[in-house]
Amino acid sequence: MKDNKYGSMKSHSEPGPGDGGRTGSWRVVRPVIDNSKCIPAKSNKMSCFTCWLFCPDGVITKTIPPTIDYEYCKGCEICAEECPVDAITMVEEADFTEEEK
Ligand code: SF4
Ligand code: SF4
Repeated sequence: MKDNKYGSMKSHSEPGPGDGGRTGSWRVVRPVIDNSKCIPAKSNKMSCFTCWLFCPDGVITKTIPPTIDYEYCKGCEICAEECPVDAITMVEEADFTEEEK
């Protein structure tokens, strides 16, 4: 519970990695960021981060470049849908080798 500017209490929660368990095991497609297209990776500026904002599991970092925690990414594709420059591609999990998984 947090105080707000009206002097009353409100409940407050934010999604975080692992809130839904190890959701990475649900994934059949994996989001892969192309840093040659990603705005902060290309410009070296703290800009965009639309994927970070929209990820329902909070598993994308707000860093240069952004990274994805595959332990918890469930492959929902929202980040790929929302990226303004199509820098995120969804790749079939079956296309990765055991070492890459
Ligand atoms: S939404 Fe796309 S361009 Fe923006 S930070 Fe994420 S991957 Fe990069
Ligand atoms: S696919 Fe993208 S939006 Fe969905 S959980 Fe994974 S990183 Fe987050």
